[in-house]
Amino acid sequence: TRRTAVLRREAVVVTVPVAVAALLAAAGPAAAGTTGASGVGDPYFPLAGNGGYHVEHYGLTLGYDTGSRHLDGTAVLTARATERLTRFDLDFSGLKITGLTVDHARADFRRSGQELVVTPRHSLHKGQKFRVTVTYNGVPKPVTDPDGSPDGWIPTDDGAFVAGEPQGAMTWFPANNHPKDKSSYDITITVPKGRTAVANGVLLGQRTAHGKTTFRWRQREPMAAYLATATVGRFQVEQYRTRDGIQVYNAVDPREAAAAAPVLKKLPSVLEWESKLFGPYPYRAAGSIVDHAPDVGYALETQTRPVYDSAPGLGTLVHENAHQWFGDSVSLTSWKDIWLNEGFATYAEWLYSEQHGGASAQKSFDALYARPASDGLWEFPPGDPGSGANIFGTPVYARGAMALHELRTAVGDPAFFRTLRAWAAQHHDGNGTTAQFVRLAERVSGKDLDGLFHTWLYEPGKPNKP
Ligand code: ZN
Repeated sequence: TRRTAVLRREAVVVTVPVAVAALLAAAGPAAAGTTGASGVGDPYFPLAGNGGYHVEHYGLTLGYDTGSRHLDGTAVLTARATERLTRFDLDFSGLKITGLTVDHARADFRRSGQELVVTPRHSLHKGQKFRVTVTYNGVPKPVTDPDGSPDGWIPTDDGAFVAGEPQGAMTWFPANNHPKDKSSYDITITVPKGRTAVANGVLLGQRTAHGKTTFRWRQREPMAAYLATATVGRFQVEQYRTRDGIQVYNAVDPREAAAAAPVLKKLPSVLEWESKLFGPYPYRAAGSIVDHAPDVGYALETQTRPVYDSAPGLGTLVHENAHQWFGDSVSLTSWKDIWLNEGFATYAEWLYSEQHGGASAQKSFDALYARPASDGLWEFPPGDPGSGANIFGTPVYARGAMALHELRTAVGDPAFFRTLRAWAAQHHDGNGTTAQFVRLAERVSGKDLDGLFHTWLYEPGKPNKP
């Protein structure tokens, strides 16, 4: 079969001496091509994402049976090769694949852990646009992150809580699963009548027939795979436009409705306040998915529409929506830089409190700084958490926010807020690194900030206050 041919070729390569293998490779049809790396080189998640191509668009058509928890999917990826490719990888974990084509021709594939290795019938030349169609089905299971939390398609008593940071997207669709690769999405989901399926972006339409309802969602602005959702449940839905013309769609589990209502009412004013501070809201759609998912233990800033495992407090609403600028529009280049997401979203909470009659940011800083050197807050520095198990640890959130507060104190409010706005504007719909942020802060303020960032982002233990 085609599959054994692929395996045999690899077997040859591993058993012959390196020099002979190189000669064989040079003689074969693969000579001028590459096989696309199995990861983008992320030190914390080496298999996350893949090399050799960029996905421009995902078209996902899903059917979820909330009774049997069975998912049926077709994923159509429109991609472009960034080098000549004889084969390439996708990230996909768990579900059974029933068909795979590249440009409508059946392609060879094999699976190894989360890597789905695809060998198209014809190699792809550099710059070539191609289309991968994968049909699949099964009962999706979440993956367990290095920090122990469930991630991906997480079944609930009435549907599924769907979130993917940092790895879970691959539990429900084949993806180039790293924030470096951002794409537009169309997500169409069919669920039993009476359930609601909520994804990212704008609701294009919904239609009920034969006891099932289909929801069609479109996310036009580029999105990292981990920020995609297709959360299913029994939800109360509310839709309106803000004064700025943003389309809001809130879906709330009735069991959480009473607690969520006073907080969700503030969403338009929170988005307006954040827009004043950070620059224009990056998307045309917004909203909230308030699920009842007691086993999850976190909320996620799913793009345009954060998903909460229960009714959020106002601080969490401010936090997840601040991520729309910091994390979603400006995405990470490496998971190691996670403080660029979590430190910023946490600092947004501090600023919100300061400007709405609560504690000042200085007070929030002081309360944390008062913690003894033995406290978990000082366990590792936020700019270098050390491993994927630490990326959502307290130092990333709290000391990350402290680093921003120290920057603000050093450069003054005008330069600080100019820096935040310039960061959001310059990397809009793109990616950024810590080094780029440091350079920007220095350019805006005209100050040398290496020492400050070194102390707050990279120095182990509790920093001495200057
Ligand atoms: Zn966060």
